[in-house]
Amino acid sequence: FTSLPDLVRIHAGQTPEKVAIIMGEMRVSWQVLDALTDRVACHLAVHPAGSVVAISSPMHPWYLALWLGALRAGHAVAPLADKLGAEALAMQVADSGAVVTFGADEVAGLLDWLPNTGETPPVRAIDPAAPFNLIYSSGTTGRPKGIVQPHAMRWAHIQRGAVQGYGADSVTLVSTPLYSNTTLVSVIPTLGLGGTLVLLPKFDTAAFLALSVAHRVSHAMLVPVQYQRLMADPTFDSHDLSSYRAKFCTSAPFSAALKAEVLARWPGGLTEYYGMTEGGGTCILPCHLHPDKLATVGQPAAGSDIRLIDDEGCELLAGATGEVVGRSPAMMKGYHNLAEASAAAEWQSPDGLRFIRTGDIGRFDADGFLTLMDRKKDLIISGGFNVYPSDLEGVVEGLPGVCEAAVVGVASARWGETPVAFVTVDGPVDAAALLAAANARLGAMQRLADLRVVERLPRSEIGKVLKRELRDGYQTLT
Ligand code: ATP
Ligand code: MG
Repeated sequence: FTSLPDLVRIHAGQTPEKVAIIMGEMRVSWQVLDALTDRVACHLAVHPAGSVVAISSPMHPWYLALWLGALRAGHAVAPLADKLGAEALAMQVADSGAVVTFGADEVAGLLDWLPNTGETPPVRAIDPAAPFNLIYSSGTTGRPKGIVQPHAMRWAHIQRGAVQGYGADSVTLVSTPLYSNTTLVSVIPTLGLGGTLVLLPKFDTAAFLALSVAHRVSHAMLVPVQYQRLMADPTFDSHDLSSYRAKFCTSAPFSAALKAEVLARWPGGLTEYYGMTEGGGTCILPCHLHPDKLATVGQPAAGSDIRLIDDEGCELLAGATGEVVGRSPAMMKGYHNLAEASAAAEWQSPDGLRFIRTGDIGRFDADGFLTLMDRKKDLIISGGFNVYPSDLEGVVEGLPGVCEAAVVGVASARWGETPVAFVTVDGPVDAAALLAAANARLGAMQRLADLRVVERLPRSEIGKVLKRELRDGYQTLT
């Protein structure tokens, strides 16, 4: 087993002068990255192996040097969101059990305070089962849950990356935060396979397009809202993006129409991943190979076993709709400090295998492609009927003038729960007329009780629509 910091040392030996990380005017060679990794490891070796080192900082090359150094010293890293308030940050630091926390100033100013003794760090063997990071889930459905990912899981991501064309000649543009697993599944293969990272700490379409051209970028992992913004940029088609060999998307629903538009206007492959920070299997959709399957999230990736279960935990037959459960060779052991949630997240198959419950509802088609409906927590049960918000969102988004729609269930004395839509629009519209037009197209059990026009939908930093905020906000308004 070769751990990521060992791979970095190998790349530094083979291609010392080659650029490993670019940010703005900064160029960090593999040799410099490896030497800094050693310096950090010497500094952190005072802590017993297996400690947790927390980092809460915007993206920066030294963020990765600190991470690699902590790993080389035998520790795990807890990458924490950098825009947390002081109180939330203190809570996550305490929860993670970190022995030390590096903030933005210490990260950017690393070279000013980090001792340079010229020593080599003590050799600490890294076990594949040892924690690589303690990472928090996105917090879309509640408070983020700490997830311990072992080195073996990251190793699996590097192997998958090799299959996806990451390698010594790949240039990966990174424009989502480093504390998100979405970002790490492209950063780690790039580092592990000796490519080059281009860091863009704050995404905007102009900077993204300029960097893509300037550095002949070959790979990028983006979330759907970023594709949406790129497609809406009037300068998009005037950029030469022919250097792209692969683009990826994950983390939130990615509409078939948007996938088709990206395929048509942006050459090179487009691959969607469906998975969770917890591990528990991945579905993969190479969109360029399956233009007739763009409404799905693809088929289980090699090594992933994805099944569906009903509310009683019974496995469902093909064609039925149920909760997605998954397993793979690399999964979390459980949630950190959350024994009850960990137990609730497990499902055991009749053949005795351990699966992780996703909380997502899906259905397989006859070709084995998975269509996702909604998250279980977002399902609306109205008058005893299951109402899928995604069905209603599709109808509302089809109305003239509507850009985006999010449908949530709110309490109703009559129906238990009833659907309400929040929409963004691209001009003046009459909300009452939109509501009537939507309801004319919806089934009797699906009818919206209300439709509100909003400036924008609330999103997490990684671009996921925060439906719980819409629900809570609505209830306190009325
Ligand atoms: P939390 O568990 O804290 O509520 P989260 O589930 O959003 O947050 P992540 O682990 O980042 O945290 O995201 C996994 C979830 O993201 C999946 O369960 C699924 O709901 C959604 N997701 C991931 N990939 C896709 C995809 N390709 N299409 C649609 N949804 C996706
Ligand atoms: Mg989750």
